[in-house]
Amino acid sequence: MSLSIPENLEKVRQLISLYGEKYGRSDKAVQLIAVSKTHGADKVKIAYQAGQTHFGENYLQEALEKIDALKDLPLHWHFIGPIQSNKTRAIAESFQWVHSVDRLKIAQRLNDQRPSSLPGLNIMLQVNISNEDSKAGVSVNELEALANTVESLPNLVLSGLMAIPAASNDKTIQRDNFRRLREARDNLLAQGLDQCQHLSMGMSNDFEAAIAEGATMIRIGTDIFGPREAR
Ligand SMILES: *Cc1c(COP(=O)(O)O)cnc(C)c1O
Repeated sequence: MSLSIPENLEKVRQLISLYGEKYGRSDKAVQLIAVSKTHGADKVKIAYQAGQTHFGENYLQEALEKIDALKDLPLHWHFIGPIQSNKTRAIAESFQWVHSVDRLKIAQRLNDQRPSSLPGLNIMLQVNISNEDSKAGVSVNELEALANTVESLPNLVLSGLMAIPAASNDKTIQRDNFRRLREARDNLLAQGLDQCQHLSMGMSNDFEAAIAEGATMIRIGTDIFGPREAR
């Protein structure tokens, strides 16, 4: 039996506040990002009418169609997918947040292509926290250099870190990965990168562990919109 999008949202919000209490976090400290990839603008609108305003997208073309279709609504769009360099202009023009920056070339292009009429583009650096060869993300060793360079780019705001750890159902492993991202963030804050506050971590399967370790943004798709069709 599947619940409706508003019911799913309510359930996720209740869990956020339950976990917030359990781990001593204020529920306002955790921003819910509804990951709407593969789901149409009609579903995004239903979520908006149930009070959701932050949405995450992975695939540029379908995202742009939804952003355009819903441009009259006060929505915040987060780009969370892999970024090819020929896609940076449209991302810089249409999104408020980008969670998946993991190399200088992409940061530089987003900076150069961010329209001057818009506020600085909020950047989260994606960190390869479980050190998998195949996964996207800057290594922990190279993070500090990249963060300092992004900080110096005038049209970007270094707002935090993001990770997609290797999938695991083991809560201890989940927490270990998220803790490493938090420690990396704390290290950057200690270096004076004051705006690097956010931790974008936690998806449908592991957001309890993420909230326990200090997530400020969780990215939830399946638990809100249901299973996705294969693309
Ligand atoms: C698809 C996706 C999510 C949402 O995953 P669910 O398991 O459906 O909650 C979150 N973050 C990123 C980067 C994704 O690609």
